[in-house]
Amino acid sequence: MSLFYALMMIHIGIDDTDSPNGMCTTYLGALLYREISRLAEPLDLPKLIRLNPNIPYKTRGNGAVSMSFNAREEDIPKIKELVLNMVESLSDFSHKNTNPGVAFLEGEIPKELTEFTYKAIREHVTIEEAEHIGEKVGAEIHKFKLGRGIIGALASIGHPLKEFTYELLAYREPEKWGTVRKVDMESVFRMDSLFYPFTHDNIDPFKGSVLITPHGKDPVLVGIRGIDGNRVILAFESVTFNEPVAFYQLYKTNQNTDEHLTFKRIGELKLYDSAIVRGMISKAYWEKGRHVFFELEDGTGRIRVAAFEPTKGFRRYVRKLIKGDEIIAAGGIKEHDGVLTLNLEKFYPLTLAPKIKYQKPKCPKCGGTMKSKGDYLKCKRCGYRMPKKLIPIEVPRDLEKKIYEVPPDARKHLSRPLVLPLGEEKILYVFNL
Ligand SMILES: [Zn+2]
Repeated sequence: MSLFYALMMIHIGIDDTDSPNGMCTTYLGALLYREISRLAEPLDLPKLIRLNPNIPYKTRGNGAVSMSFNAREEDIPKIKELVLNMVESLSDFSHKNTNPGVAFLEGEIPKELTEFTYKAIREHVTIEEAEHIGEKVGAEIHKFKLGRGIIGALASIGHPLKEFTYELLAYREPEKWGTVRKVDMESVFRMDSLFYPFTHDNIDPFKGSVLITPHGKDPVLVGIRGIDGNRVILAFESVTFNEPVAFYQLYKTNQNTDEHLTFKRIGELKLYDSAIVRGMISKAYWEKGRHVFFELEDGTGRIRVAAFEPTKGFRRYVRKLIKGDEIIAAGGIKEHDGVLTLNLEKFYPLTLAPKIKYQKPKCPKCGGTMKSKGDYLKCKRCGYRMPKKLIPIEVPRDLEKKIYEVPPDARKHLSRPLVLPLGEEKILYVFNL
């Protein structure tokens, strides 16, 4: 008799189990990861994959979870059963926008699945497309209700995560869900001063607020993000909690990588795309409500660009742009008032048009100040009159050659904050700048 038995690689993906009323796909994922690790050998940390942030029916943050194990062939049915039971018992089926999906795949990840992953991150994909790709690569898929979650379940499995960051998610005891999170704020500021920039987005320095605690009824106590997994754990351990931490899980994630943004021509932009475009401002900014708009064009088309009210101080820089400026703009394509609109996440001024201000000349006779009187200018001091001829003066432009981005609480999970390495290069490399 031989002790040798066959090990199989199994990938498990889940998505869309959460709702605003509680539950969170990462919580379910963390529980599954712990349970399955008793039966099989995990090949890596679980993955938290953010999909296209511009899809309207997304669940909070639009994140899907997957994990990979080496398992004994005979244990695979047990693992699948465990996953399906847990998704069934813990998903929030009461919410109409919660449509869970589960995917299982054995063996190596096919290239077609990875291509599907990037499509789900940058564009709009349908449940039918996901079913089609699932069948093609031999994945086993399970839909609950509409089963929209199979899109993220498959996309998460297909993500190679060659470039990634970390997020540590700590969870609350179930009896605390829905109550105010008891996290010592001072300890978070202290943690940030010790670990920034290896962990980021812990606080909003401008508002003096803490960003690691969510506000909903979900089980997450805190989420700490960073580029160094060990320091993220140390940062978490340095925070003081005034309620018990049920458990925590470190995830590898595509958050803050900007991978949702791909270069497009303005004429190619479609609803829900995430894109980077390069163009000339064809219509100077105007305001409606507290939103700031302008119009951008390249040789292929024009698009309205918006910096909405929640982007706060970012709008101040948008208002400095004038007609004729050439910029790189990044963001998601949405419909607003029935018009296709690029929701600006960041911009980079390439060339600034000269800004001209017209000034009245001084009185040629006495040097006094002139006053406009119809077509004439009249000296306030000596009464000298002359035809109205203004002097053009070039005003210095108050914008630098750098990326301007929305503040942390308005930023998308996938957006790369400028504090991270390559924060600028990533946006500029497509143009060889
Ligand atoms: Zn005068």
